[in-house]
This record gives sequence, C-alpha cells and structure tokens, in this order.
Amino acid sequence: MERNITCIICPRGCSLTVTVDGENTKVIGHSCPKGEKYGIDECVNPVRTVTSIVRVTNREDTMVSVKTADPIPKAEIFDLMKLIRETTVEAPVKIGDIIIENVYGTNVIATKDIK
Ligand code: SF4
Repeated sequence: MERNITCIICPRGCSLTVTVDGENTKVIGHSCPKGEKYGIDECVNPVRTVTSIVRVTNREDTMVSVKTADPIPKAEIFDLMKLIRETTVEAPVKIGDIIIENVYGTNVIATKDIK
C-alpha cells in the first residue's frame, strides 16, 4: 500500500509518500526525522486528540469544553464521543480537571473554567 500525505508537524508541510509492505514501512519526502515518524504513525497507527463539550448540570445552558490529554487511536474516536455525550459534570470546573478518567490510555480534561 502506498499513500501520499502531507506532514502537519510543522508549517513547511512536506509531501510524504509512505509505503507499507507487511512489517516494512518506508517514508520518502520528509525533511526531518519527525516527518518520518509522522508518516509511519499516520499509516500504521493513526491517533488524534479529541475535542468536544460536556454538559454542566447545575448551570443553565452551560457546556464545558474538553479534550483528551493525549492523542488516542483514530479507531476509538466514535466510542469516546459516545461516552463524552453521556457524561455530565457539576460546576465549578477548572481547566485541567479530569472529566473522564482513564479512557483509551488517557484522561478527558476540561479546557475551560466554569465558576
Ligand atoms: S517532515 Fe519535518 S520539516 Fe517537513 S513538515 Fe514534517 S516536521 Fe516539518
């Protein structure tokens, strides 16, 4: 399998060609080691940081923005979004508070203060 992707690690935006052949993965077009790692990860085990919102039950029409503290596997995003939709919190909430603990190897944390 060969994929052409753009490295998004820095603004230079190098065009990468990644070839996956069984256990062997080869990247060309990168200008630095970070780009090579990005190309391999994106084709072998793509991950994303998930951002969303969670309802605050004791504040009318209030949501708190949240994100995963670390990127999670792309394949797990749908299930995590379902869990986030089912989650509620009570104010006060501080930036960095853990809203959902230990999901897919990380935590979902608040990115906004709710007083
Ligand atoms: S390969 Fe390196 S220089 Fe090119 S966009 Fe990626 S991080 Fe930037």
